Amino acid sequence: MLEIRPSCEHCDKDLPADATDAMICSYECTFCADCVDSVIENTCPNCGGGFVPRPVRPAREWRPGVSREKQKVGEKRVHKPVDGHAHGSFIATLKNIPPEKR
Ligand SMILES: [Zn+2]
Ligand SMILES: [Zn+2]
Repeated sequence: MLEIRPSCEHCDKDLPADATDAMICSYECTFCADCVDSVIENTCPNCGGGFVPRPVRPAREWRPGVSREKQKVGEKRVHKPVDGHAHGSFIATLKNIPPEKR
């Protein structure tokens, strides 16, 4: 089950469960869309992978046993601002490789 984190790892912006600008990598590292575009350039600083929009878990129990009421979203904030210089060298080669080929 997807861990739904409450904030952007870089700028610490709130990303509630129904946010439409939350982005995740395959390890659920979570950033806002602005940071993915302008800061980390679609390259996860933790794993090197690309990002996709995070799906919104339904608030209501449309099917028995599954909803944000039944499976609570995460409360633990991860705040590890990216060092622009270090990330720049990390993505120097990576950013030229499409995420599906990394
Ligand atoms: Zn952000
Ligand atoms: Zn990652």
